[in-house]
Amino acid sequence: MKNKKKINVFDPEITQQDIASVTKVLKQKELTGIYSNTNLKFEREFAKYCDSKYGISLTNCTSALYLAIHILKLKPGSEILISSCTNIATALACYHNDCIPIPVDSDFDTWNLDEKKITKLITKKTKAIIAVHFLGNPAQMKKLKKICKKYNLYLIEDSAEAHGSQINKKKVGSFSDIACFSFYSNKTITSGEGGMIVTKNKKFYDMLKLYSNVGFSRKRFVHYIPGFNLRYTAIQGALAYSQFKRINIIINKKIKIFNTYKKYLSNNKFIKFQKTEKGNKNTYWMIGILNISKKINKNYLMKKLKSKGIETRSFFLPINRQPCFKEIFKNKNISNPVSDFLWDNGLYLPSSHNLKKKILNMFVMKLTKFIILNENRLFYFC
Ligand SMILES: *Cc1c(COP(=O)(O)O)cnc(C)c1O
Repeated sequence: MKNKKKINVFDPEITQQDIASVTKVLKQKELTGIYSNTNLKFEREFAKYCDSKYGISLTNCTSALYLAIHILKLKPGSEILISSCTNIATALACYHNDCIPIPVDSDFDTWNLDEKKITKLITKKTKAIIAVHFLGNPAQMKKLKKICKKYNLYLIEDSAEAHGSQINKKKVGSFSDIACFSFYSNKTITSGEGGMIVTKNKKFYDMLKLYSNVGFSRKRFVHYIPGFNLRYTAIQGALAYSQFKRINIIINKKIKIFNTYKKYLSNNKFIKFQKTEKGNKNTYWMIGILNISKKINKNYLMKKLKSKGIETRSFFLPINRQPCFKEIFKNKNISNPVSDFLWDNGLYLPSSHNLKKKILNMFVMKLTKFIILNENRLFYFC
C-alpha cells in the first residue's frame, strides 16, 4: 500500500541557519572540539541554561553516563539503582564500570522511577541512583535527593530526553551531582550523535574534562591518569549550538502538540497519558500513550496505524527484561510489574515539533475511530 502521507514518529529539523553554522566552522577549519570556541561557548551557555555551572561536551550520552560513573571510582560490584524504564545506555554505563544496575520499578502515572520502591532496594553495596526523566517528564528529584543524602549515595540525572524540563521553575540537570544530556538525531536538539554533561562541582568538572580527553596533562604527552577519547567535534558542536539557540521555540511547539493530542484524546477512556506532577514542566521529547483497551493489543494497534502510514514506536524494553543482563539478575529476584505494563501497552505517537496541525488532527481522528470501533467488536478501520 502506498503511504502518500506517511507520518513519522520523529523528523529532525535542520534549518538554513544550522547549515550556515556548520559551514562557518568548516571554513574556519575549526574541526576538533578541543580548541573550538564554538564548543566552549556552547558548554558555558548550555550549563547556564540548565541552572548548573560547568558543561562538558562529548561524543554521546551513553559515554557521558559511563564517564560520570567512572570518575566516582566505585568499588567493583557496587550497585546503582536506575529507572527500569529507560534506554539501555543507563544500564550499560553501570555494567561497563563493573557496577550492577538495579532496575527500580516505574510509577503508573508519571512512568518515572517510583521513589517509594527505592528504600527496600538499598543495600550496603548501593552507591548511587540514576534517575531518568522519561520522555521529558521530570523525575521526583527532591525526594531522591533526600534519599541520597540519608544513605550517602551519589545522584545522577539521565536527562537525555529532558532538555529544558523544569521542577518548580528550576531546570533538570541542576538537581544532581552530575547530569547527562543527549544530542542523538531524534533528541530535542541534535548533532546526529553527541552529548553534554553538566555539574556544579568543580572537582568533578576537572576530572570529566581530563578523563574525556585522554588525560592530557600540562606536560605534553605525559599522562598521569588513564583517560578516554570522548571528544566532541566542533562540526557537531556548531550544529547542536545552532539548534540550542532556538530550543525554547522547539519546546513550546512540543508542548502545543501534546496539548492538541490531549484535547482530542483525553475523553477516550482507552488511552492514558503521562502525568506530569504539579509545578513541573514536561517538555515532551516524545508523546507517549498507554493503550488500556482490553480488546486491542498494542502490537495490533501499531500494525493497523502503520498500514495507514502512521508510525508509532514502543517504549523501551525494561532493563529487568533485557536478555544481556539475564545472568546478573539471575539470583536477584527483580520484579518491575509497572515497567512491564508500560512495555506491554505503551507507544509513542508522532512527536515532531514541526508536525502540522492538519496531519495531527487526521491521525487523532483515525486513532479514535479505530479504538472505538474495535471496542464495539466491529473490526473495521477507517
Ligand atoms: C537517548 C538516550 C540515551 C542515549 O543517548 P546517546 O546520545 O544516543 O548515547 C540515554 N538515556 C536515555 C534515557 C535516552 O533516551
